[in-house]
Amino acid sequence: MTSSRQDVVAFIDLQAQRKRLGTKIDEAIDRVLNHGKFIMGPEVTELEGRLADFSGVRHCVSCASGTDALLMALMAWSVGPGSAVFVPSFTFASTAEVVVLLGATPVFVDVLPDTFNIDPDSLASAVEATKQKHSLRPKVVIAVDMFGLPAAYKVIADVAARFDLKVLADAAQSYGGSTGGKRTGSLGDVATTSFFPAKPLGCYGDGGAIFTDDEETAAVLRSIRVHGQGSDKYDNVRIGINGRLDTLQAAILIEKLEILQDEIERRNVVAERYEKGLGSAVRTPSVSPDASSAWAQYTIVCGARDDVRAKLRRRGIPTAIYYPKPLHLQTAYRSFPIAPAGVPVCEELSNQVLSLPMHPYMEPDTQERVVTELAEAVTRSQ
Ligand SMILES: *Cc1c(COP(=O)(O)O)cnc(C)c1O
Repeated sequence: MTSSRQDVVAFIDLQAQRKRLGTKIDEAIDRVLNHGKFIMGPEVTELEGRLADFSGVRHCVSCASGTDALLMALMAWSVGPGSAVFVPSFTFASTAEVVVLLGATPVFVDVLPDTFNIDPDSLASAVEATKQKHSLRPKVVIAVDMFGLPAAYKVIADVAARFDLKVLADAAQSYGGSTGGKRTGSLGDVATTSFFPAKPLGCYGDGGAIFTDDEETAAVLRSIRVHGQGSDKYDNVRIGINGRLDTLQAAILIEKLEILQDEIERRNVVAERYEKGLGSAVRTPSVSPDASSAWAQYTIVCGARDDVRAKLRRRGIPTAIYYPKPLHLQTAYRSFPIAPAGVPVCEELSNQVLSLPMHPYMEPDTQERVVTELAEAVTRSQ
């Protein structure tokens, strides 16, 4: 075995992106340090305009994280005690956490085995059951674009219309993806995203954004972002939070947004190589022809997952498990309702998913090594 074969493969390579951007990031940071408007400086407004254009939506309200983005959207819709909010159980904790923080009740819904996204039939039956069994008012469904693939928004919109639900698109993992000719940010009634460093569009700290075409919602979100302020700064008209995005992060994001489209295309090339190389050895993610994933993660489904993972680790190939435990089985969320038929797909996926190294700058020979080692590990684990 040559020494290069023993090098550890990068799971995500942020340094490659930094090299590509050259001195642009340093210059952007320098500009902010010089003008000194660290809170709500000009870069914040500029970024919001650029993000709104990129997504093809009228308003973008930046904020401090993807979690705050979800929280603020629910606050703008007056979600609170007595409200039911439908969320997939196979997701990151934030999606349900913000619901509980507001005193509302998350109702856990199943996901589809091939896309990992919310199952519209499970959603419909969960809404029916909630109306009959619990004294809760169904208010919002949070559709999560798991691993970068937009959820089935057309079908979800039909279910939402039937039950008078608002659709919140949690696009934390899918910024840069699209479906039906529409980019993430423009899907759902309101969409949110995260700029956590490892997301497809990441900054160098925490950050997030909220998108909507609705003028009034955007105005309420801007007020919530700064303690519920009204036109008079010291007469707060509602309860809000300190949810602002730092000017420094906005300046960094302006530079990174410039190359996002190209990076998404590169991620798609990497995904195609995986799809071709892995073939039938494992179940690879499925993307419908009218959708494009932002590939926050490349996640496969395989048996003997933990064994395969250990073998890969010994060969210098890092993998990750998103998510080892669905929310409804986690200690803090055990007491909340779940869809009437249960959420068996969420439970099964948690035992079988494995995320492989994925970033826009992965070289073909590195990827070849991942594919070969994975095929071998799967064969030996059967
Ligand atoms: C990352 C993530 C969030 C939270 O974003 P933060 O910026 O870390 O607060 C919310 N939902 C999903 C699906 C995520 O992946």
